[in-house]
Amino acid sequence: MSYPYDLIIIGGGISGCTAASIAVGFGARTLLVEKDMSGANGSWQRTIPVKALLYQARKYAERTEAPTHKFFDELLSLKEKAYRGTEHPERLKNLGVEMVEGQAVFIDSHTIEIEKKDHKKIRVRGRKMIIASGSSPLIPEVEGIGRTPYLTPDTLFKKTWIPERIIIVGAGPVGAELGQAWCRLGSQVTLLEKENRILPAFPLQASDPLRQVMESEGMEIITGCKITRVKGDEHSVTVHVSAGEEERVLSADRVLFATGRHVFPEKLKLKKAGVSYKAHQVFVDKNFRTNVRHIYAIGDITGTLHQAQMAISMARAAVVHALFRIPMRVTSEDVPRVVFTDPEVATIGRIPSKSALKSQKYERYRVSYEKIGRAVIEDTPEGWIHVYVKKWTGRIMGAHITGRNAGEMISVFTMAMRHGIPLRKIASISFPFSSFSYGIQKVAEEWHLSPQRNGMYNWLKKLFRLQGFLRKGNRQE
Ligand SMILES: Cc1cc2nc3c(=O)[nH]c(=O)nc-3n(C[C@H](O)[C@H](O)[C@H](O)COP(=O)(O)OP(=O)(O)OC[C@H]3O[C@@H](n4cnc5c(N)ncnc54)[C@H](O)[C@@H]3O)c2cc1C
Repeated sequence: MSYPYDLIIIGGGISGCTAASIAVGFGARTLLVEKDMSGANGSWQRTIPVKALLYQARKYAERTEAPTHKFFDELLSLKEKAYRGTEHPERLKNLGVEMVEGQAVFIDSHTIEIEKKDHKKIRVRGRKMIIASGSSPLIPEVEGIGRTPYLTPDTLFKKTWIPERIIIVGAGPVGAELGQAWCRLGSQVTLLEKENRILPAFPLQASDPLRQVMESEGMEIITGCKITRVKGDEHSVTVHVSAGEEERVLSADRVLFATGRHVFPEKLKLKKAGVSYKAHQVFVDKNFRTNVRHIYAIGDITGTLHQAQMAISMARAAVVHALFRIPMRVTSEDVPRVVFTDPEVATIGRIPSKSALKSQKYERYRVSYEKIGRAVIEDTPEGWIHVYVKKWTGRIMGAHITGRNAGEMISVFTMAMRHGIPLRKIASISFPFSSFSYGIQKVAEEWHLSPQRNGMYNWLKKLFRLQGFLRKGNRQE
C-alpha cells in the first residue's frame, strides 16, 4: 500500500522536532503535527524560559540592582531568540518538514485525525508513526488542592512576573532552578521537599554544596516534609506542612508545584491503533518501538528519564530504526543530567554504592575547585569534580561535578564513557591551562598518583635501583 508520508510525528516539542529534521535529512516525506506552533508549548514553554530567568537573575545578582520592567523585555527577547534558532516552524519548513497545526488522535495504526484550530478535521496516513506528545505536570493529592489556584512549570511563563513570596513544592532540578532565580531577583522563597535532601535523584555530594549556597542566599529549605493542606486564592495561599514532629503553616502569595510529570496516553486514542500503554507510560523496546511494529514513541511519553537530552537521543535512534532498521544504543546512563543553578550540578552514569567502593572494585578520584586556578580567580572555589572508575582498567563508571561550568565539563566524561576512553587516557590529553576544564586533567592525573599504582611504582623503583647499580658497576670497571 502506498502512503502519502513515510513518517508522521505527533508532537512538535524537542523530540518531535529533532526526529522531523533528521527524517527529512534522510529524504523521508515527513509530517509533523503540533497542537500549538506558537512556541508556547514543549521546551519553549518551560526549559528555555527557566534558563533565561536564571541568566537574568545571575546578572541582576552580580550587579546587585533591582530588576525593572526592562527585565521582562530582556527575558522575552532571549527566549524568542533561542526559539528562532532551533524549533521554530519556519526553520523546520525550510528543511522540508511538512507541518500541520492541530490536535492528533489515532483512527487506526496508520491513520490519524487532526483537529485544526478552526475545528476542521482532516485525516492523514503514514507508513511509520512516531508519538512524541510529551508530558504534563503531576500534582500531588492534597486537601484543598481543588479549590486553591496554583502554578506549575507549564503555566508559569504565561506571564512574566516576580513573586514577593512564593512556596515551591519539589526540590528537584526545576524547583531548585526556579527557586534560586526568584530568590536572586528578590523574592522570599520557601522550597519544600518530601525526601531528606534537595535534588534527591542526584548524588548527595553533588547536591549538598548547592543547598548550602541557596540557604546562604536567603532561601528557606524544608526537607523530609509532607504537605497536608493548601488553601488560598489568586492573592495569597497557606500551605500546611508536617516535618517529623513539627507542624507548620506557611504563607505566601503563590504556590508552585514542581513535583514531577506524568503522561496521558489515552488522549491520543492509542487503543484504536492497538498500542499498549499503562497510566504513566507508553511501552517501548530498546529501539523505541511500541508493540505495534511501525509505531514508535519517544521523549517524556515513554515515562523514562524526563529530560530533553534523553528525548533527543531517543528521537535520533527511533528515526534511524524506523527508516533503516539500524539499532542505536541509548541508555539513560549515557545521558548527562544538569541542574543549571549556581553552582551548577551535573552528573553522568552510575555512582557505585559505598559498599562497592569499599570492596575495592571501584575507585573514586576527586579534585576540589580550589585546585583550579581559574575557579579561584573567578571567586568560585566551592565545587568538586568526582569520577568513579573500575580499579586497574580506569574505565569510567560515572562522574559528577558541582561548580561553575559543571554542565559544560560533564561532556568530557559523557564522551569518554560513550566511547570507552578510560581515565588514564584522559590524563594524556592537554586541557587548556587556566580553563575550568583543566580541573578534568587534574582529576585524571590523580589516577597515576593513586595507591593502586603502588605495585607498579615499587617495581619501577626496583628497576631504577638496578639501573643505578649497573651504571655504578660499569663506572667502577
Ligand atoms: C521547567 C522545566 C525545565 C526543564 N529543563 C530542562 C533542562 O534544563 N534540561 C533538560 O534536559 N530537560 C529539561 N526539562 C525536561 C524537558 O523539557 C522534557 O524532558 C522535554 O521537553 C521532553 O520532550 P518531549 O518532546 O517528550 O515533549 P515536549 O517537549 O513537551 O513536546 C511535546 C509536544 O507535543 C505536543 N502535543 C501533545 N499532544 C499532542 C497531540 N495530540 N497532537 C499534537 N501535538 C501534541 C505538545 O503541544 C508539545 O509541544 C525541563 C522540564 C521542565 C518542566
